[in-house]
Amino acid sequence: MAIISSHQPESEAPSPTPKKARPREALLSGQELPQDTQEESLRPQTLNAYIGQRELKEVLTVATAAARSRGEALDHLLFYGPPGLGKTTISQLLAREMGVNFKMTSAPALESPKDIAGILVALQAKDILFIDEIHRLARVTEEILYTAMEDFRLDIVIGKGRTSRITSVPLPRFTLVGATTRYAALAAPLRDRFGLVHRLRFYDQAELTQIVLRTSNLLKVPIEKDGAEEIARRARGTPRIANRLLRRVRDYAEVKGNGTVTQAMAQTALELFEVDPRGLNWTDRRILEIMIENYRGGPVGLDTLAAATGEDRQTIEDVYEPYLMQIDYLQRTARGRMATPRAYAHLGYKPELQAQQQLLDLG
Ligand code: ADP
Repeated sequence: MAIISSHQPESEAPSPTPKKARPREALLSGQELPQDTQEESLRPQTLNAYIGQRELKEVLTVATAAARSRGEALDHLLFYGPPGLGKTTISQLLAREMGVNFKMTSAPALESPKDIAGILVALQAKDILFIDEIHRLARVTEEILYTAMEDFRLDIVIGKGRTSRITSVPLPRFTLVGATTRYAALAAPLRDRFGLVHRLRFYDQAELTQIVLRTSNLLKVPIEKDGAEEIARRARGTPRIANRLLRRVRDYAEVKGNGTVTQAMAQTALELFEVDPRGLNWTDRRILEIMIENYRGGPVGLDTLAAATGEDRQTIEDVYEPYLMQIDYLQRTARGRMATPRAYAHLGYKPELQAQQQLLDLG
């Protein structure tokens, strides 16, 4: 039977990107890490406390109000985007808004048909079933979900070989909420069964500052506004990283200062932890350096970048590139990846270098 609970710590689920993490880099990973122990207590409990993602909140407010007034279950929903942006949190909030149970599991925990069948038959009408990393579902599980989602029916094969037969069990109308970091990896028939598909965005500076201030308040950490801004700037647009950096800076401020997180304190601490002023880590910088130093700023193919950094293609595409594109340091073109003038400036290359390289390319 799959582990399923309303408060299952995600850290117990197998990590989707098994990585030989360089220790400092883990600080800037969007994935949940064992040290994120307080994450549950930091999750916003109301849609109001959920900062940012304005469009998503609007869409969901309308959808929940409509479903409630009709007394129906919500349509199946799919949330995608890099880890740590609030997919699980918003799904839990949805259950609260609807006043229904929230059941949480993740695709790697659903190994055999029995696992998903056991979960489905235990659902009550309108319950929300949250499946994390839904792109990793086993084929058989996925097929069971097709009929469950569409016809609210569970088809079970009883017996083996020529004597086997299919029995159908009716299911209550439930809502499946899927979360994934890899929308493209989802099979089309599964994608098509979601009534609403939404990509979560990276958070801007002001939103992340608000998140840091909110978390400091919950953790009772004295903080100055520009201290919060300094942390927000380095948090890669990601609430989970912002909260993690705050906890590290808090420790530093307690040991080295009077406990208050000032801008200077945040800056010194984060420099010590090798968190770059824009939140870049070794791999991000290496990606850009290779483009600039070895390929005149690009275009460079994904495989080349993967080989040079020791990361797999998927991780570069799903984890590193989205943030580098977000801050306009990297562009994806039909011919490959290109470093932008901002990337040159950030890494300390002279702007003339890019112009010279472009001339060489033309020549
Ligand atoms: P995901 O499921 O996308 O990996 P989570 O929902 O687990 O991300 O969010 C990670 C952490 O970030 C949560 O514990 C929560 O404290 C914080 N967080 C996420 N989104 C928000 C938000 N919009 N406002 C405030 N905190 C947030």
